[in-house]
Amino acid sequence: MEFETVIGLEVHVQLNTETKLFCSCPTSFNEQENINTCPTCLALPGALPTVNREAVHKAIQFGKSVNAKINKTSKFDRKNYFYPDSPSAYQISQFYQPVVENGILNITGKQINIVRAHLEADAGKSIHEYDGSKVDLNRAGTPLLEIVTAPDMRSSDEAIEYLKKLHSIIRYINISDANMQEGSFRCDANVSIRPKGDDKLYTRVEIKNINSFRFIQKAIEFEVERQREAWLDGVYSRDVWQETRLYDSAKNETRSMRSKEEASDYRYFPEPDLLDIELSDEVINLYSQIPELPDQKAERFQKELGLSEYNSIVISSSIELARYFEDLIQFGASSKMATTWLTVELLGRLNKLNLDISQTPINSQKLSDLIKAIDSNTISGKAGKDVLDYLFENQISVSEAIKRLGLEQISDDSSILSIIDNVIAQNSNKVAEYRSGKDKLFGFFVGQVMKLSGGSANPQKVNDLLKSRL
Ligand code: ADP
Ligand code: MG
Ligand code: ZN
Repeated sequence: MEFETVIGLEVHVQLNTETKLFCSCPTSFNEQENINTCPTCLALPGALPTVNREAVHKAIQFGKSVNAKINKTSKFDRKNYFYPDSPSAYQISQFYQPVVENGILNITGKQINIVRAHLEADAGKSIHEYDGSKVDLNRAGTPLLEIVTAPDMRSSDEAIEYLKKLHSIIRYINISDANMQEGSFRCDANVSIRPKGDDKLYTRVEIKNINSFRFIQKAIEFEVERQREAWLDGVYSRDVWQETRLYDSAKNETRSMRSKEEASDYRYFPEPDLLDIELSDEVINLYSQIPELPDQKAERFQKELGLSEYNSIVISSSIELARYFEDLIQFGASSKMATTWLTVELLGRLNKLNLDISQTPINSQKLSDLIKAIDSNTISGKAGKDVLDYLFENQISVSEAIKRLGLEQISDDSSILSIIDNVIAQNSNKVAEYRSGKDKLFGFFVGQVMKLSGGSANPQKVNDLLKSRL
C-alpha cells in the first residue's frame, strides 16, 4: 500500500528588536537571570502592555518578502494556559486577526502557502537543576513572529527546503538572527500520512521545537514511519492521535509529550489591555521596502554575471555567502574565478572543517588577493590551492604565504629565456633532431626548462618562448 506524507510547519522567529514586545525591557541575550524584567513582563497586577512598533514593522517586512497580505487592522488576543515560566498565565498572541496572511514561498517546482504570520510574546525559561527548578524571565515578553504554512509539503526534503529558504529570507531582511541553537528560529512540524490518492487530511501529530535542520528531517522521517507501521499493523486509530511529541535526537525517536490542545481549550478572547493595530498606507509602504531576496539575487547573478542556475542558487542561499561573493566581484575578481574559488575551494575546505561562511578564517579581501595572484601569473592555479591551505593555518597575507612557500612563479620573459638558452646550449644534438622534424622532443625541452627553474616557471610562457626559440 502506498502512502503520502503531509506536512505543515509552524516556525517561531524571535524578532531582533531592541526591546520586548509590550514593555521597554531589553531583549539582550546571556544576561544575569531575571535582570531584563519589569512590572509588565513580570505580569504584576495593574501593569499595562504597549505594543513595540519595531516588532510590527518587522512583521510587515516579513509579509512583504513572501508577497502576503498585510492587514491594515490586526488585533491581539489572550491565549490562556499555565506554565511556570509564564507569569501571566496567558500569552498575548494574534488569533482572530493576524498582521500577515496569505503569503507564498517558492521551493523547487512548487509554492508553499503561508497561511498566516502573527506576533506573540515569548515565555521565560525554566532551568532544571538537581535540587529543583528555577525560572528566568529575561525572555518573557520578547517578540516572536509565528509563521504557519498550509499542509503543503509532501516529504521531509520539501519541509527542509522550505525551512532553509525561510531561514535565508529572514536573515536577508534582517528581522532576526534566526540562530537555531539559541532558539531564535524554532520549528514545530505537523505530520500526517494518508493513502496515496486520498485528498482528505488525516490525524496529525505535532513535533515540537527541534533545533537543527538535520534533526527536523530525522524527526519527520521517524514519525512518518511510525504512522505507516501503525496503519499497516491495523492499530492506526489506537496509536496515532492528535498529540504533541518531542524528538529525542540521542535515540532518534519521537515520544509523546501531551495531548494536543484544541483552540477552544485556550479560551481565546480579545486582549482587553491593548488597542487594535491600525496601519496607515504610509507605514505599510515604508516597511514594504525590503532588500533584494535570494530568488532575485540568484536571477541577477545569472543574468548579469553569467552564473549557472546551480551556482547562483548556492551562492544566494545565504546572505553571508552572497555578500562574500559580491565583495570578490567588487574587488575585481571575474565572476568565473570568484565562483570557483568561493564555491569549490573555500566552501570545500570550510565544509571539511564543519564551518560555515560566517566562520571563515579567510575574508573576501584575502581570497580576492589570491585570485589576483593567480590572474597575474604570480602563482599557478595549482599553487593557489596550496596557498589557500596554508592561509587556513596561518594568519598572514597572501604575498607572505606565497613567499614562505616559495611558490612565486617566474613569468618574466628574460628569466625564462635565459633558462631556455641554457637548455638549448646543453642539448645541441636534441635541438638538431627537433629541427629536422622530431616534434615529439618538444615535451623533453619543456621538462628540462621546468626542472631547471625548480618547477616555478610559468608553463604557458615556457611553451610560447620555447616554440619561438627552437
Ligand atoms: P494549531 O494552531 O493548533 O497548531 P493549526 O490548524 O493552525 O493548529 O495548524 C497548525 C499546523 O498544522 C499548520 O501548519 C497546518 O498546515 C498543519 N496541519 C493541519 N492539519 C494537518 C494534517 N492533517 N497533516 C499535517 N499537517 C497539518
Ligand atoms: Mg501548533
Ligand atoms: Zn519588561
